[in-house]
Amino acid sequence: MRIPFIAGNWKMFKTVQDAVLFTKELRSIVKDVTNVEIVVAPPFTAIHAVAEAARNTNIGVSAQDLYWEREGAFTGEISAGMIKEAGASYTIIGHSERRRLFGETDAMVNRKTSAAFQNGLTPIVCVGETLEERETDQTLAVLDRQLKDGLDGLTAEQVAELVVAYEPVWAIGTGRNATPEQAQEVHALIRARIGVRDARIAAATRILYGGSVKASNAAELFAMPDVDGGLIGGASLKAEEFVAILAAARPH
Ligand code: PEP
Repeated sequence: MRIPFIAGNWKMFKTVQDAVLFTKELRSIVKDVTNVEIVVAPPFTAIHAVAEAARNTNIGVSAQDLYWEREGAFTGEISAGMIKEAGASYTIIGHSERRRLFGETDAMVNRKTSAAFQNGLTPIVCVGETLEERETDQTLAVLDRQLKDGLDGLTAEQVAELVVAYEPVWAIGTGRNATPEQAQEVHALIRARIGVRDARIAAATRILYGGSVKASNAAELFAMPDVDGGLIGGASLKAEEFVAILAAARPH
């Protein structure tokens, strides 16, 4: 059985102070939750403080990105080792905003994913098609390429451990979520694609849906057999809404 996984991507929101207040509020509300892996992804500046506030709780901390080199003259970048030292255990990789606004390619996603594993971080690898790609029937080809190139060279154990987030770009921050059926169709394809390498691994990999998930639509999305939870943007910024989404998680 796959343990459901719910991650809040805070993007470029929350000061250190706001992030700590949120974490303290969340930790008291979710202290008895045992059947969901709960993760928050603050901006780099708040990772350490959030990790301290979440220490010895059931809340995991994620970065939103990393750079694959260990150290060096890479102004503005943060390495996987630095993120780990700051207290995170996970990192988002290849979010569509990184791909669209910062030119991130599948080859970069691949290097970042390897660097995450080398430094003991669990990668949450984002894939998804744009509206134009969906409307021109390229969804499958795009996902195939993102998975093949993004996860190239990983071991079967690493693929089982990582988390995939299917985030149709047209649904992120737009209020327009995929229907549960649309999400299920793609999640099943992603699992089948991973299953080409190893069916057992594919059965263990958590595949999250992301794109305008809210308390009001989470339950129907998470009821789908291949939807193992969500990567939540806007709705993760308010503890009450995030907790309502957590309550909708269920194992498959
Ligand atoms: C995201 O940023 O990963 C996301 C899914 O955003 P939203 O929930 O706001 O659409």
